[in-house]
Amino acid sequence: MDDNLAIREAAIRHCRLLSLRWGEAVPYEELARGFPFRGQWIKLVGPQGVFKPKELTDGPLTLLSTLASSYEDEHLEGDVVLYDYAPTSREFENDGLKRIAAQGKAVILLRQVKAKPRPEYMVFAPVVLRGFDDVARKVRLDLAAAQLEVAGIPAPVPTPFSKAYAETIVKARLHQAHFRREILTAYAQRCCICELRERPLLDAAHIVPDRLPEGVPEVRNGLAMCPTHHRAYDQNLVLVTEQYRVEVQRDRLYHAESEATARMILDFDGREILLPKQEHLRPDPEFLRRKIVLAA
Ligand SMILES: [Zn+2]
Repeated sequence: MDDNLAIREAAIRHCRLLSLRWGEAVPYEELARGFPFRGQWIKLVGPQGVFKPKELTDGPLTLLSTLASSYEDEHLEGDVVLYDYAPTSREFENDGLKRIAAQGKAVILLRQVKAKPRPEYMVFAPVVLRGFDDVARKVRLDLAAAQLEVAGIPAPVPTPFSKAYAETIVKARLHQAHFRREILTAYAQRCCICELRERPLLDAAHIVPDRLPEGVPEVRNGLAMCPTHHRAYDQNLVLVTEQYRVEVQRDRLYHAESEATARMILDFDGREILLPKQEHLRPDPEFLRRKIVLAA
Protein backbone atom coordinates (compact mmCIF):
# COMPACT_ATOMS: atom_id res chain seq x y z
CA MET A 1 0.00 0.00 0.00
CA ASP A 2 1.21 3.48 -0.85
CA ASP A 3 1.75 5.47 2.31
CA ASN A 4 2.98 8.59 0.56
CA LEU A 5 -0.34 10.41 0.63
CA ALA A 6 -1.12 9.39 4.20
CA ILE A 7 2.30 10.60 5.41
CA ARG A 8 1.90 13.89 3.54
CA GLU A 9 -1.53 14.44 5.06
CA ALA A 10 -0.25 13.64 8.55
CA ALA A 11 2.50 16.23 8.09
CA ILE A 12 0.06 18.89 6.91
CA ARG A 13 -2.29 18.13 9.77
CA HIS A 14 0.57 18.35 12.28
CA CYS A 15 1.67 21.69 10.84
CA ARG A 16 -1.85 23.07 11.16
CA LEU A 17 -1.84 22.10 14.83
CA LEU A 18 1.52 23.83 15.31
CA SER A 19 0.10 27.00 13.75
CA LEU A 20 -2.92 26.83 16.02
CA ARG A 21 -0.75 26.45 19.08
CA TRP A 22 2.00 28.92 18.23
CA GLY A 23 0.33 31.38 15.87
CA GLU A 24 2.56 33.14 13.37
CA ALA A 25 5.86 32.12 14.94
CA VAL A 26 6.60 28.43 15.50
CA PRO A 27 9.93 27.77 17.29
CA TYR A 28 12.41 25.74 15.24
CA GLU A 29 12.67 23.11 18.01
CA GLU A 30 9.00 22.28 17.41
CA LEU A 31 9.62 21.73 13.71
CA ALA A 32 12.79 19.75 14.40
CA ARG A 33 10.79 17.24 16.49
CA GLY A 34 9.04 16.07 13.34
CA PHE A 35 5.51 14.70 13.21
CA PRO A 36 3.90 11.48 14.43
CA PHE A 37 2.80 8.83 11.93
CA ARG A 38 1.58 5.39 13.01
CA GLY A 39 3.57 5.33 16.21
CA GLN A 40 6.83 6.71 14.83
CA TRP A 41 8.21 10.22 14.34
CA ILE A 42 9.04 11.41 10.85
CA LYS A 43 11.37 14.32 10.12
CA LEU A 44 9.84 17.55 8.90
CA VAL A 45 12.97 19.59 8.21
CA GLY A 46 16.47 18.81 7.04
CA PRO A 47 19.75 20.61 6.46
CA GLN A 48 18.69 21.82 2.98
CA GLY A 49 15.86 24.15 2.04
CA VAL A 50 13.98 21.49 0.08
CA PHE A 51 13.47 18.43 2.25
CA LYS A 52 12.13 14.91 1.75
CA PRO A 53 11.95 12.55 4.72
CA LYS A 54 13.26 9.06 3.96
CA GLU A 55 9.80 7.56 4.56
CA LEU A 56 8.43 9.41 1.51
CA THR A 57 9.16 8.10 -1.97
CA ASP A 58 7.12 10.51 -4.10
CA GLY A 59 9.11 13.72 -3.60
CA PRO A 60 9.90 16.61 -1.23
CA LEU A 61 7.64 17.51 1.70
CA THR A 62 8.84 20.86 3.03
CA LEU A 63 10.38 24.04 1.66
CA LEU A 64 12.28 26.12 4.17
CA SER A 65 13.00 29.77 3.48
CA THR A 66 15.48 31.76 5.51
CA LEU A 67 15.46 35.39 6.55
CA ALA A 68 18.17 36.02 3.98
CA SER A 69 15.60 35.44 1.24
CA SER A 70 13.79 38.54 2.46
CA TYR A 71 10.12 38.66 1.57
CA GLU A 72 10.35 42.07 -0.08
CA ASP A 73 12.45 40.46 -2.78
CA GLU A 74 9.99 37.70 -3.41
CA HIS A 75 7.59 39.63 -5.64
CA LEU A 76 4.52 38.84 -3.67
CA GLU A 77 1.47 38.88 -5.89
CA GLY A 78 -1.71 38.03 -4.10
CA ASP A 79 -1.42 34.56 -2.63
CA VAL A 80 1.52 33.53 -4.82
CA VAL A 81 5.13 33.67 -3.73
CA LEU A 82 8.28 32.61 -5.54
CA TYR A 83 10.68 30.10 -4.10
CA ASP A 84 14.22 29.48 -5.31
CA TYR A 85 15.03 26.12 -6.88
CA ALA A 86 17.40 23.86 -5.02
CA PRO A 87 20.99 24.35 -6.35
CA THR A 88 22.01 22.44 -9.49
CA SER A 89 23.96 19.99 -7.30
CA ARG A 90 20.57 18.91 -5.95
CA GLU A 91 18.59 19.02 -9.19
CA PHE A 92 16.79 15.79 -8.16
CA GLU A 93 14.93 17.86 -5.52
CA ASN A 94 13.55 20.16 -8.22
CA ASP A 95 12.55 17.13 -10.29
CA GLY A 96 10.86 15.79 -7.18
CA LEU A 97 8.86 19.01 -6.80
CA LYS A 98 7.73 18.78 -10.43
CA ARG A 99 6.62 15.19 -9.83
CA ILE A 100 4.64 16.30 -6.76
CA ALA A 101 3.01 19.08 -8.77
CA ALA A 102 2.07 16.68 -11.60
CA GLN A 103 0.41 14.38 -9.07
CA GLY A 104 -1.58 17.29 -7.65
CA LYS A 105 0.00 16.87 -4.22
CA ALA A 106 0.81 19.66 -1.80
CA VAL A 107 3.91 20.67 0.13
CA ILE A 108 4.57 22.72 3.26
CA LEU A 109 6.29 26.12 3.32
CA LEU A 110 8.23 27.17 6.42
CA ARG A 111 9.20 30.83 6.34
CA GLN A 112 11.70 32.08 8.84
CA VAL A 113 10.46 35.14 10.76
CA LYS A 114 13.11 35.33 13.47
CA ALA A 115 16.87 34.86 13.27
CA LYS A 116 19.12 32.53 15.25
CA PRO A 117 19.95 31.59 17.99
CA ARG A 118 16.28 30.67 18.50
CA PRO A 119 14.76 30.90 15.04
CA GLU A 120 11.02 30.93 14.48
CA TYR A 121 9.01 30.04 11.40
CA MET A 122 5.65 30.87 9.93
CA VAL A 123 4.02 27.68 8.70
CA PHE A 124 1.94 27.43 5.53
CA ALA A 125 0.25 24.08 4.92
CA PRO A 126 -0.86 22.90 2.44
CA VAL A 127 0.87 24.83 -0.32
CA VAL A 128 0.15 24.10 -3.98
CA LEU A 129 2.92 24.19 -6.61
CA ARG A 130 1.59 26.40 -9.40
CA GLY A 131 4.39 26.49 -11.94
CA PHE A 132 8.10 26.17 -12.61
CA ASP A 133 10.39 28.72 -14.21
CA ASP A 134 13.48 26.78 -15.31
CA VAL A 135 15.17 29.96 -16.54
CA ALA A 136 14.75 32.08 -13.41
CA ARG A 137 14.99 28.81 -11.42
CA LYS A 138 11.97 29.62 -9.30
CA VAL A 139 8.81 27.75 -8.41
CA ARG A 140 5.50 29.54 -7.87
CA LEU A 141 3.82 28.62 -4.60
CA ASP A 142 0.12 29.21 -4.01
CA LEU A 143 -0.55 29.84 -0.32
CA ALA A 144 -4.33 30.33 -0.54
CA ALA A 145 -5.16 26.75 0.47
CA ALA A 146 -3.14 27.19 3.66
CA GLN A 147 -5.88 29.58 4.80
CA LEU A 148 -8.70 27.05 4.41
CA GLU A 149 -9.91 24.43 6.82
CA VAL A 150 -8.02 21.14 6.56
CA ALA A 151 -9.21 17.83 7.97
CA GLY A 152 -11.36 19.54 10.55
CA ILE A 153 -8.54 21.81 11.71
CA PRO A 154 -9.44 25.41 11.08
CA ALA A 155 -6.95 27.73 9.47
CA PRO A 156 -5.30 30.11 11.93
CA VAL A 157 -7.56 32.82 10.54
CA PRO A 158 -11.35 32.99 10.14
CA THR A 159 -12.78 30.80 7.38
CA PRO A 160 -12.52 32.83 4.20
CA PHE A 161 -15.60 33.64 2.19
CA SER A 162 -13.74 33.95 -1.06
CA LYS A 163 -10.37 33.41 -2.64
CA ALA A 164 -9.84 37.17 -2.72
CA TYR A 165 -10.24 37.21 1.03
CA ALA A 166 -7.69 34.41 1.40
CA GLU A 167 -5.24 36.35 -0.75
CA THR A 168 -5.44 39.46 1.38
CA ILE A 169 -5.08 37.30 4.49
CA VAL A 170 -1.85 35.76 3.21
CA LYS A 171 -0.44 39.21 2.61
CA ALA A 172 -1.66 40.47 5.95
CA ARG A 173 -0.14 37.49 7.77
CA LEU A 174 3.23 38.04 6.12
CA HIS A 175 3.21 41.74 6.95
CA GLN A 176 2.03 41.05 10.48
CA ALA A 177 4.83 38.55 11.10
CA HIS A 178 7.37 40.97 9.66
CA PHE A 179 6.03 43.81 11.83
CA ARG A 180 6.13 41.63 14.97
CA ARG A 181 9.70 40.55 14.27
CA GLU A 182 10.88 44.13 13.80
CA ILE A 183 9.07 45.41 16.90
CA LEU A 184 10.26 42.62 19.19
CA THR A 185 13.83 43.13 18.00
CA ALA A 186 13.65 46.90 18.52
CA TYR A 187 12.31 46.42 22.07
CA ALA A 188 14.80 43.66 22.94
CA GLN A 189 11.96 41.13 23.39
CA ARG A 190 10.33 42.98 26.27
CA CYS A 191 6.93 44.45 27.03
CA CYS A 192 7.54 48.21 26.95
CA ILE A 193 5.43 48.66 30.09
CA CYS A 194 6.18 45.76 32.45
CA GLU A 195 9.34 44.46 30.71
CA LEU A 196 8.01 40.89 30.58
CA ARG A 197 10.56 39.04 28.48
CA GLU A 198 8.73 35.93 27.28
CA ARG A 199 8.83 36.13 23.52
CA PRO A 200 5.95 33.71 22.83
CA LEU A 201 3.73 36.02 24.90
CA LEU A 202 4.71 39.27 23.24
CA ASP A 203 2.70 41.18 20.66
CA ALA A 204 3.48 44.00 18.30
CA ALA A 205 0.81 46.54 19.26
CA HIS A 206 -0.15 49.26 16.82
CA ILE A 207 -0.18 52.81 18.22
CA VAL A 208 -2.63 54.15 15.64
CA PRO A 209 -4.87 51.08 15.07
CA ASP A 210 -4.33 49.21 11.79
CA ARG A 211 -8.03 49.55 10.88
CA LEU A 212 -7.27 53.23 10.14
CA PRO A 213 -5.36 54.26 7.01
CA GLU A 214 -2.64 55.91 9.15
CA GLY A 215 -2.23 52.72 11.18
CA VAL A 216 0.80 51.60 9.22
CA PRO A 217 2.78 48.49 10.24
CA GLU A 218 5.99 50.45 10.83
CA VAL A 219 8.21 50.22 13.86
CA ARG A 220 7.53 53.87 14.71
CA ASN A 221 3.81 53.07 14.92
CA GLY A 222 4.33 50.07 17.18
CA LEU A 223 5.08 49.03 20.74
CA ALA A 224 6.10 45.62 22.08
CA MET A 225 3.57 44.58 24.70
CA CYS A 226 2.49 41.59 26.74
CA PRO A 227 -1.13 40.47 26.16
CA THR A 228 -2.48 42.30 29.22
CA HIS A 229 -0.88 45.63 28.38
CA HIS A 230 -1.66 45.24 24.69
CA ARG A 231 -5.35 44.78 25.50
CA ALA A 232 -5.25 47.62 28.02
CA TYR A 233 -3.67 49.87 25.40
CA ASP A 234 -6.14 48.89 22.68
CA GLN A 235 -9.02 49.46 25.11
CA ASN A 236 -7.58 52.84 26.15
CA LEU A 237 -7.25 51.85 29.82
CA VAL A 238 -3.61 52.79 29.45
CA LEU A 239 -2.11 55.44 27.19
CA VAL A 240 1.46 56.35 26.29
CA THR A 241 2.19 60.08 26.20
CA GLU A 242 4.41 61.91 23.72
CA GLN A 243 7.00 62.03 26.52
CA TYR A 244 6.94 58.21 26.48
CA ARG A 245 5.21 57.90 29.82
CA VAL A 246 2.47 55.49 30.86
CA GLU A 247 -0.80 57.23 31.68
CA VAL A 248 -3.41 55.02 33.31
CA GLN A 249 -7.00 56.08 32.71
CA ARG A 250 -8.11 55.41 36.26
CA ASP A 251 -11.75 56.28 35.62
CA ARG A 252 -11.95 53.51 33.02
CA LEU A 253 -10.88 50.77 35.44
CA TYR A 254 -13.62 48.67 37.03
CA HIS A 255 -11.68 47.66 40.11
CA ALA A 256 -9.00 50.26 40.67
CA GLU A 257 -8.89 49.32 44.35
CA SER A 258 -8.02 45.68 43.66
CA GLU A 259 -4.52 44.55 44.42
CA ALA A 260 -4.16 42.77 41.06
CA THR A 261 -5.24 45.86 39.13
CA ALA A 262 -2.71 47.89 41.10
CA ARG A 263 0.07 45.41 40.45
CA MET A 264 -0.61 44.90 36.78
CA ILE A 265 -1.76 48.35 35.73
CA LEU A 266 -1.81 51.21 38.27
CA ASP A 267 1.75 50.65 39.49
CA PHE A 268 3.03 51.64 36.05
CA ASP A 269 1.21 54.98 36.00
CA GLY A 270 3.61 57.82 35.22
CA ARG A 271 6.56 55.54 34.54
CA GLU A 272 8.65 55.90 31.43
CA ILE A 273 8.20 53.06 28.94
CA LEU A 274 11.06 50.92 27.77
CA LEU A 275 12.35 52.36 24.48
CA PRO A 276 14.41 51.00 21.60
CA LYS A 277 18.08 51.87 21.96
CA GLN A 278 18.13 53.24 18.45
CA GLU A 279 16.42 56.60 18.36
CA HIS A 280 14.98 56.23 14.86
CA LEU A 281 13.02 53.17 16.00
CA ARG A 282 11.26 54.97 18.87
CA PRO A 283 7.54 55.74 18.62
CA ASP A 284 6.72 58.73 16.47
CA PRO A 285 5.19 61.39 18.79
CA GLU A 286 2.75 62.20 16.00
CA PHE A 287 1.31 58.66 16.21
CA LEU A 288 1.16 58.80 20.02
CA ARG A 289 -0.70 62.14 19.81
CA ARG A 290 -3.15 60.76 17.28
CA LYS A 291 -3.85 57.72 19.47
CA ILE A 292 -4.57 59.96 22.48
CA VAL A 293 -7.01 62.01 20.40
CA LEU A 294 -8.73 58.80 19.26
CA ALA A 295 -8.97 57.58 22.85
CA ALA A 296 -10.65 60.74 24.14
ZN1 LIG B 1 3.32 44.09 30.03
